[in-house]
Formats: sequence, structure tokens, C-alpha cells
Amino acid sequence: MMKEFIQNMPKAELQVHIEGTLEPELLFELAKRNKVELPYATLEDAKKAMPYQNLPSFLVSYYANLKVLLTEQDFYDLTLAYLEKAASQNIRHTEISFDAQAHLNRGISLSTVMVGMHRAMQDAEQKCKISSGLILCFMRDLSEDDAQKVLLEALEFKDWIMAIGLDSSEMNNPPEKFKNVFDRAREYGFLTVAAAGEVGPAEYIWQAIDVLHVSRIDYGIHCVEDPDLMSRLVMKKIPISVCPVSNVKLGIIKSMQKHPLKKMLEEGLCVTINSDDPAYFHAYLNENFLAAQAGLSFHKDEIYEMARNAFLSSFLDNDKKEKYLLELDHYYNQ
Ligand SMILES: [Zn+2]
Repeated sequence: MMKEFIQNMPKAELQVHIEGTLEPELLFELAKRNKVELPYATLEDAKKAMPYQNLPSFLVSYYANLKVLLTEQDFYDLTLAYLEKAASQNIRHTEISFDAQAHLNRGISLSTVMVGMHRAMQDAEQKCKISSGLILCFMRDLSEDDAQKVLLEALEFKDWIMAIGLDSSEMNNPPEKFKNVFDRAREYGFLTVAAAGEVGPAEYIWQAIDVLHVSRIDYGIHCVEDPDLMSRLVMKKIPISVCPVSNVKLGIIKSMQKHPLKKMLEEGLCVTINSDDPAYFHAYLNENFLAAQAGLSFHKDEIYEMARNAFLSSFLDNDKKEKYLLELDHYYNQ
């Protein structure tokens, strides 16, 4: 009953990394196509290597697997596979993050990455009726100078980029490290988001809003330790894209029963549910909703509220938001 309600509900996704949608099957197909050697002998070995204990060990294999992505067609295939899957889960709109530097630093050009993804997004809009946008994320373990270089390159593709973000390894890489490049991005007219408070402290969330002036926070779960921060997030209506299964699978939260998502919603925060890296955590958006519901006993009205928050917090224009919200409201009221 709840399962059906979640599956059929029109949804939006705001935090999903295209690199984290690389399923083992496609990984092997691309490795073969591009004659790239993998550290796994078989598909089964790759699947077995995929559950992770913590964020650092996860990130190591995550970035190692990217070496199979070489051509525009590879980025097209990766993006189309995610969008088809998303559409099959009744996701109507998705804002896809990507790590430009993870590809540029391997000698892949930004245009190879962007054109491949953009073409898949256009085809998916036609074929599967799913809208999408791209969030170019700076990798926070790299320098601000490196981020500045990428920002300049990205200007050529400004019309294809919905926002600038900040992701990867949070510890010891506070948001304030990227103050200048985020100032610059906003001057160029980019919207901005930043991951903060996933493993880092509440202080990093303060920095993301006060120093980087972001429109949205990714993860944000450590805000519950700071009541002043909670009231600020509520007052300023700053949306938080939460990834419940990712947090539990990476051992950041001990079990779904202990996840702060319920408290965040009850305290009036604009929270949304997202899949983060669905191929690695074996959970796309529906599975995230289902796991959160099972662990935290969400009622239908709360599930609906979080789905509504996602459309409201998206970077779509008001007409498109309105259209999707009407569809969601109609579904809920039926
Ligand atoms: Zn993420």
C-alpha cells in the first residue's frame, strides 16, 4: 500500500551524482568497449566489492571506476541509463551533479563530458518525459585555484549548467576554503549549492550559508546538533537534500531508526529525500523513500510533504514548478 503510494508518486530528485549511477553492468560494458582494465575479474566480483564501510574507502573505488568513461558516447550512455531508470520510478525532474575535475584531471575535455550528458538529457526529455538540469560540483579536496580554472572553462557551457556545487571529501575541507570561487560563480549568475554537515560539523553548514551564500544544502544532517542553526535554516527556508540510505550505508548514521530526517521534518526544515549514488548503495529514489519510511514510520502526509519540498526547492522556473506541484497534489488528493 505505502510501497505503491511511493512508487507511483510524481517525484523530483535534487542530489544524485552521475558518477554514482554507474552500475557494474555498464562499468564492464564500457571497460570492454574502451579496452580499460578493471581491478575486478568478473561482474560478480565488482558487485561484491560494492558495499562500503566508510566514506574514504567508498570514494577510492568510486573515483577508480571512472577510468572507463572516456568518450562523449560513454557520458551519453551513463546519463541516459540513469534518466531512463529515474523515469521508470516516476521521477519527473532531476538535478544531476557531476565532478568535472574527476574527468578533466584524467585528460577528458569538459566538452566531451557536457555534450554527452546534455544530449542524453534532451533525448530523455523527449522519450521519457523527464526534465533535468546539471550541477557542476567542485571537488573540495582539491584547491580553490583548481576550482577557479574549472569555473572559467564552464562559462562556455553556462546555458547547460543549472548550478554550481561542492562535493567529495568533507573532513578538513570547510566551505570557507571556496569563498572566492563561489563569490565569482554568483557574480557570473550561477545558482549555488554545497554539501555540508554530512560528516563535517554544524559549523560547516553555517559557513555554507553565511560564507558561500548557497541556495541549498546537500546532506545537512549535522544541523540537528545546533538549535540556532536549525532556526536559521527554518527561518530562511533553506532546503536540505538528505540521502538517508547513503548515510546509513556509509556508517555515518548507525541505523535508519536513528536517522535525523524525521526530527528535521518535524522541526519545520524543508527536507527532501535523494539517492546520492544509487548504483553503489543499491537504492534509487523509491528505495530511499521506502527505507526511510520503514525505519522512521513516516505517514503518507509526511512522504507527500517531502516530495512537495523537492519540487519547491528545485531550480525550475515557477511555471514548471506549478505544473509538477499540481500533478503531485492531484495524485495525493485522489
Ligand atoms: Zn552527494
